[in-house]
Amino acid sequence: MRITLVILCLLATLMGCQSNILNTEEDTPMTLDNLAEHYVKLALAVGEHHPYYIDAYYGPSEWRTGEKRPLNDLKTDISTLLAQLEQVQSSEAQLQRKAFLQVQTKSMLTFIQVINNEKVSFDDESLRLYDAVSPNITEAELDKALNELDIMLPGTGTVSERMNDFIEQFVIPKDKLDSVFKAAVVESRKRTKQYIELEEQESFTIEYVQDKVWSGYNWYQGNSYSLIQVNTDFPIYIARAIDLASHEGYPGHHVFNSLMEKHLVNGKGWIEYSVYPLFSPMSLLAEGSANYGVDVVFPHAERIQFEKDVLFPLAGLDASKVELYYQVQAVKQQLSYADNMVAKRYLDGEIDAQKAIELLVKYTLVTKKKAQQRLGFINANRAYVINYNLGQDIVKDYIEKQTKTGTQAEIWALFSELLANPKTASMMQ
Ligand SMILES: [Zn+2]
Repeated sequence: MRITLVILCLLATLMGCQSNILNTEEDTPMTLDNLAEHYVKLALAVGEHHPYYIDAYYGPSEWRTGEKRPLNDLKTDISTLLAQLEQVQSSEAQLQRKAFLQVQTKSMLTFIQVINNEKVSFDDESLRLYDAVSPNITEAELDKALNELDIMLPGTGTVSERMNDFIEQFVIPKDKLDSVFKAAVVESRKRTKQYIELEEQESFTIEYVQDKVWSGYNWYQGNSYSLIQVNTDFPIYIARAIDLASHEGYPGHHVFNSLMEKHLVNGKGWIEYSVYPLFSPMSLLAEGSANYGVDVVFPHAERIQFEKDVLFPLAGLDASKVELYYQVQAVKQQLSYADNMVAKRYLDGEIDAQKAIELLVKYTLVTKKKAQQRLGFINANRAYVINYNLGQDIVKDYIEKQTKTGTQAEIWALFSELLANPKTASMMQ
């Protein structure tokens, strides 16, 4: 092939034609594998412009060149890749692979606009980066849950103040945090491994950190290994033990990344999955499945029992209050879309930072200091906030509409199938 091209090119050059036929990229047959490699290199190149864009990468290290290429050049290359993806032939078995790659690639163009500070509305950004738009929630709708909590919570003051007073009795003492968190991890892992086969060497390290805009983070390193960081800036309530252990670990981010590596990167040689760009459609599934996974690994009644028998005593908390605590948590959960409402209004310029903090205090029932941290998260991650709640609902609906018997085994089978064969939001709807 190459020799023929060289001869053709010599002829072409002699005839005064363009010589780009010698371009090695032109010489490479256009396959999905080759385009996937381009995608990885382009994602890494975009990542040179933002410290958190590349959430995980464990492909060939030489592809990460460290070169900061001009954004306009990257835009051109991404558009070329999109055109090639449109044209490339793919087998029936690889149609979903191609579609996912197209959506991921397209999102890079939007992310370049975001880092260029170009005006993109909240809904537009979430559609183009995460393939989904959050429903418009009004304060009146949120007031219903607020009224319910008004009746449930003792004391005087606003619902937010009373909530913060109420949950004070459920803080894990700092000296017990590690043992409580580890107990939650051990149980989540044990339960997950009953249904999902993980690599033998899978493991992670837990670190306690400060001064972050998030409360927990999983940094996937490849080879089924994660570094999980837990932020201790704010009091950590007992519900967070299972939430964090399951969301960051089992069957959340650690398992999701491990399964993609095992099935897709190692199993099928789909190299595009060795890179995880944070601000991309992948994140809706990542956060959505990590949140939904908490209920999969700990169905409500089992969670209550485990909290009562193990976690509350380990944290030195009053186990007779487990039910009450989780009843309040369940109503509070109905307010989760408040985050999207505030982020949208704030980022679209309808309200200022002060009003955003005020609304976060009122509707997400946090202290002013915690609301300031949350606004820091919104400033840093923008429309990413929709991935947690909308992502959770999309994953939940997707799994539930496929269940026939509703048994735990069936739910786990559908859930692990989704983690091993990722879908974007629109593919799940
Ligand atoms: Zn997460």
